Amino acid sequence: MNILETPSDRLLEAVRSLLAAKGHLTTDEIAERIRITDGGSPAQGARMVARAWTDPDYKALMLRDGTMAAEAMAIPMRGLPPLGVLEDTEAVHNLVVCTLCSCYPRAVLGYPPFWFKSAAYRARAVRDPRGLLGEWGTVLPVGQKLRVVDSTADYRWMVLPRRPAGTEGWSAEQLAAIVREGDMIGVTIPTAG
Ligand code: FE
Repeated sequence: MNILETPSDRLLEAVRSLLAAKGHLTTDEIAERIRITDGGSPAQGARMVARAWTDPDYKALMLRDGTMAAEAMAIPMRGLPPLGVLEDTEAVHNLVVCTLCSCYPRAVLGYPPFWFKSAAYRARAVRDPRGLLGEWGTVLPVGQKLRVVDSTADYRWMVLPRRPAGTEGWSAEQLAAIVREGDMIGVTIPTAG
């Protein structure tokens, strides 16, 4: 036994070999799932946002069916909960939270940031969302409604932020580079930089 192994490593190995021994999953399938999970990152979501900003048909698809829109960008979504996309407009700004735990669209945003899982974020996103946004330096225009949306085990949400002023004529690659993780959760708003 490797001395660096923890009890959870041993538990994981036992569960893996039992699943394989009982024929529920092959070790290749487990490896494939790990590869897909590790391939998720905010850069994937940023590519979707940038394309939605430059391609109206893609934006319509993204708002109708986030899972299909992700797959259209070669992001593997098989076996994952459906992805919903919330469009920010002049009238509404969206903020995503999982009040219960840390449900997050990992295929398109990667692993959730540490604060997303914190009790403080989960509670304050509901109790005082404008105060919470203020701590990120995010100030919403007067009159813009703030909508807080709960991600769950059955449905994962990401935000399609508004395209910032000063990005006219930019390529999708240039646009993707300014879209941050927080912009797709709704704690921050993209800027032209
Ligand atoms: Fe959760």
